[in-house]
Amino acid sequence: MQIYVCYRCAEINNLGTVKDDDIANRMPAKWLPEQVKSLAAYQNSSQYFPYVCDQGDIFEATTVGLFCPRCEQILKWAYDWTLDWSWQ
Ligand SMILES: [Zn+2]
Repeated sequence: MQIYVCYRCAEINNLGTVKDDDIANRMPAKWLPEQVKSLAAYQNSSQYFPYVCDQGDIFEATTVGLFCPRCEQILKWAYDWTLDWSWQ
């Protein structure tokens, strides 16, 4: 998943890039059915920006990862708080 910050904001706030492996609260797939339920509800929530593929399609939650049915891209991790209903 990509995040964009403009150069000016990065300069003002002295922001750098964080490597994917440095993000501590990522949960790798596979996930349990209850975790997939939470993630699917998160993806359909109108309150949060969903996980999207590189083409901007909304991923579908499955036990083996977040899957895009249009381009068949798969994301094999999600933030822990999207898997345990604590996002609600
Ligand atoms: Zn896609």
